[in-house]
Amino acid sequence: MGNLAETKPHAVLVPFPAQGHINALFKLAKLLHLRGFHLTFVNTEYNHKRLVKSRGSNSLDGFNGFNFETIPDGLTPLEGNGDVTQNEASLRQSIRKNFLRPFGELLAKLHDSAIAGVTPPVTCIVSDCFMPFTIQAAEEHALPIILFSPASATGFYAALHFRTLLDKCLIPLKDDSYLTNGYLDTKVDCIPGLKNLRLKDLPDFIRTTDPNDPKVEFVTEAANKFHKASSIVLNTYNEIESDVMNELYSMFPSIYTIGPLSSFLNQTPQNHLASLSSNLWKEDTKCLEWLETKEFGSVVYVNFGSITVMTPEQLVEFAWGLANSKKPFLWIIRPDLVIGGSSILSSKFKNEISDRGLIISWCPQERVLNHPSIGGFLTHCGWNSTTESICAGVPMLCWPFYADQPTNCKYICDKWEIGIKIDTNVKREKVENLINELMVGDKGKKMRHNVMELKKKADENTSPGGCSYINLEKVINETSTPHA
Ligand code: UDP
Repeated sequence: MGNLAETKPHAVLVPFPAQGHINALFKLAKLLHLRGFHLTFVNTEYNHKRLVKSRGSNSLDGFNGFNFETIPDGLTPLEGNGDVTQNEASLRQSIRKNFLRPFGELLAKLHDSAIAGVTPPVTCIVSDCFMPFTIQAAEEHALPIILFSPASATGFYAALHFRTLLDKCLIPLKDDSYLTNGYLDTKVDCIPGLKNLRLKDLPDFIRTTDPNDPKVEFVTEAANKFHKASSIVLNTYNEIESDVMNELYSMFPSIYTIGPLSSFLNQTPQNHLASLSSNLWKEDTKCLEWLETKEFGSVVYVNFGSITVMTPEQLVEFAWGLANSKKPFLWIIRPDLVIGGSSILSSKFKNEISDRGLIISWCPQERVLNHPSIGGFLTHCGWNSTTESICAGVPMLCWPFYADQPTNCKYICDKWEIGIKIDTNVKREKVENLINELMVGDKGKKMRHNVMELKKKADENTSPGGCSYINLEKVINETSTPHA
């Protein structure tokens, strides 16, 4: 083994097997690699195949000390081309049952490889906080483990307080009528740090009538293990979630804000690694050329992430709202975005927008958001999309779908005032009006100013001397040394 391999710290990174989780952890992986770590990034076999395919090459090799390993996901292979988002409920079930054994075998293999002098010994596991089997594996292999939350601090904190809501009998909901009868407007005044939120602003796992809801069990089971981690790192920064961070600091001795990761990466020199994407769909880069033809700040970027789905009626309302706004737009319609299939937009619509609308199925989002032509982002408020938009200084229109997205939307619209919410029951007139407000209205101007301020704070946090920067250094130092 060469000198380098002997001395390098070696982190094994394990994302939850979904696009948003993979992208967030991949950003941290890049930062660790830039700080001299040897890395093993562990995807499921299904996602690894997609990653390789989306890059149009047979391999992801070529990055010294940045290696990929796979474990099976234990699910029955999907029919078709295997290029769609997997069912999250099935994944959660399988994670609980099937992931520990192959992951343990992988750690044993890496151990053997270190003894043989092929790779440096593993110094730590960096795991998504919703992959709880990694904690058991870390214990069995006597390795320190860092838990990484790809969600906001508030999303992470809410998962910890699910029990409180149960104890106060606020959930589960008595029956489905509670979803619509105004009950969800109840203020959450029993959880410090969340006092200005209503039940409906909390992550959607509270919207259940089942006391044994498997999703809730999964979240609480993971949350019950958070305290076992050597440290916990969050892709956020203090200024935007200070109330919740203050609570979290008092709960965990080693919890660190190390975000926004996009801001760190925006500041690193562009090289082969920096441009390596972890997207599972093939990026269509022609949109970047198209954006070149558009005026500064003139284009509405529309993307609902990797999991959101909508009805054909909702798609049509968005379509005509966009068309009637008369603004240029770039709209990403994933092949599986629309329930029942997406080829439903009429030729009348296509003719109407031909000179100013571009529709493609996946794009390099961060490059798009940072393009000078982009003036606003119609988003589902995934935490990655939210932080990526802040880091690019782009205000938002919000159409949250599930998980922590309602919480992110609440912060975006009411706390930071960098976005406006669109009703779930979307109507074309409203979309048209809000796009105009966002792009050329007074409120849009104010939101653009606010988001630039947040971007500035994000950049300060991730520059030398900034809080997230110092925190990342601390975590790196704590985990670089080989364990006894
Ligand atoms: N993304 C992308 N191109 C697309 C759509 C999404 O690169 O066309 C990336 C986006 O930049 C983000 C991730 O996919 O990093 C989506 O994560 P997010 O948390 O926003 O939403 P999710 O997909 O988990 O709902």
